[in-house]
Amino acid sequence: HSGPAPLDASKLIVTLADLTARAVPDEVAACTGTETICTDHMITAAWSATAGWSAPELKPYGPLTLMPTASVLHYATECFEGLKAYRGHDGRLRLFRPDLNAKRMLMSTLRISLPSFPPEELEKLILALMALDGPKWLPASRPGSYLYLRPAVIGTQPQLGVQAPREALLFITASFMPRMDAPPQGLKLHTNPEDMIRAWVGGFGYAKVGANYGPSLLATNEARERGFGQILWLYGPEGFCTEAGASNFFVVWRSKTGRLEMVTAPLDDKLILDGVTRRSVVQLARERLAGEVEVVERKYTIDEVVEADKEGRLVEAFAAGTAFFICPVSQIRHRDTDIHIPMGKGSSGAYTAKVKGWMTDIMYGNEQHPWGVVV
Ligand code: PMP
Repeated sequence: HSGPAPLDASKLIVTLADLTARAVPDEVAACTGTETICTDHMITAAWSATAGWSAPELKPYGPLTLMPTASVLHYATECFEGLKAYRGHDGRLRLFRPDLNAKRMLMSTLRISLPSFPPEELEKLILALMALDGPKWLPASRPGSYLYLRPAVIGTQPQLGVQAPREALLFITASFMPRMDAPPQGLKLHTNPEDMIRAWVGGFGYAKVGANYGPSLLATNEARERGFGQILWLYGPEGFCTEAGASNFFVVWRSKTGRLEMVTAPLDDKLILDGVTRRSVVQLARERLAGEVEVVERKYTIDEVVEADKEGRLVEAFAAGTAFFICPVSQIRHRDTDIHIPMGKGSSGAYTAKVKGWMTDIMYGNEQHPWGVVV
């Protein structure tokens, strides 16, 4: 068989770390420092245009070696994924729809001219890392805990000049991530400054490339200084609502004709990330709230939200993503206008609480569902 080799998880070469060298830290303590605490192992696979993919390696966690001229360090040839492994209340270890993360990573990879791979092979590698490190780092004695998995691909060719890299590296780490519990008073969003947008038609906002994140920090930090948690990214002179920070965004309102709707931005103009949480919320709400709430994927503007607020039609709003999970939104500041969103009796509205509950049950095995993939 000649030609560049495809990525093949069955060729995995395993080199074990000394498992007794590091104890599993307390979850909270692990997240208080300034460095992400990773598990004992990581996975790497190197690619070159001539040889294709090397046999992937599962080996002790440690630094990567890169030349200062590596493509990624100059031209942002990088993309990544984020998903969690959950220790269920039934004692089992699960991933949530990892096939979607693997497919999305392939899409992002191709968007920045990095090498293709069969997404199933990436999924198998993620499962292999969790099969090894899951039992120690997500012990059965800690049901309800999780680890954060971070696959990434970078261009490593050590040559300056704007060109598609002929060398790349795929790697996967598993780590602790702080619990970003929804603030009890709800998440406060600030719309982006008029001269800063996250994504544009014809751009790459729909891909999970690192180049989307660094430039968003300036607006986010400004909003934080004013007491807001995340930016609500608007697009265009119309002010279309797109995403909230690195999460998708949903509004529940009564339409002018009195129908209950759960509205979120559409995927087709490629302005937003196709979130796994977003997709799952849309699908579950369509199945389980049928006849009660209509789920609508369409363009909608901040003025429509302001108007719904003025007319008393706003019911709830929430951000949805892997990191923050389902987070109720209580306020949006847009220029000089404050929109106050009902939070219901508890710390979240009733529909927000419902979708959050359904998803949690699938992730932690309270409901057996094909989206919960047992490791
Ligand atoms: N939008 C952006 C820009 C993101 O970075 C993320 C996090 N991956 C999301 C939305 C939510 O996606 P997911 O539900 O797959 O985590």
